Amino acid sequence: MVDEQRIQQFRQMAEADPENELGQFSLGKALVDAGQFDESVTPLTRAIDLNSRMSKAYQLLGEALRKTSQNEKAVEVMKKGITIADELGDRMPRDAMVALMKEWGEDVPELSDKPTMSASPTGGAPSGDGFQCARCGRPNGRLAKPPFKGELGGKIAEHVCDGCWREWIPTGTKVINELGLVLSSQAGQDAYDQYMVEFLQLDRV
Ligand SMILES: [Zn+2]
Repeated sequence: MVDEQRIQQFRQMAEADPENELGQFSLGKALVDAGQFDESVTPLTRAIDLNSRMSKAYQLLGEALRKTSQNEKAVEVMKKGITIADELGDRMPRDAMVALMKEWGEDVPELSDKPTMSASPTGGAPSGDGFQCARCGRPNGRLAKPPFKGELGGKIAEHVCDGCWREWIPTGTKVINELGLVLSSQAGQDAYDQYMVEFLQLDRV
């Protein structure tokens, strides 16, 4: 899907249900992906207001603020995001934020363990098969089998850990209920799949 179509779709969802954090997050992320940083600030801020534990949202908001020359605010958001991601064990966004802060020449808050960007992963026993969860970056906890049939189910089994998959399930239910998605329709199924892909960060694998 081209950027503008994605943005349009997520904008509709965010407007239809302003209390849905994933709707706001997805809109913000689509805007960042399209280089529309100015516009992404509002939905990303809103996503964090709705769910202060959304670590990836801090990363995107920090980047957007920096791109729009709001450096002080960017650093503030990143520090908070790093601390939260560290507490939650969301290594991927945490290490990405640490790397950005270093690039900007800013101090990084103290972490519970070393960032895993280096060649030898620390923390958690590596599974030995090169698995790394696309969402949280954990090297273990791979799903035993695809959670459902089809290409997307296979992709999830390959790239998503058990913990992240379990986190998606109640979120997915919320998405269906709050947006009134009809899964028997192709449009409803497509929208649901898209939320799942965004949530599990499968768009970059
Ligand atoms: Zn995970």
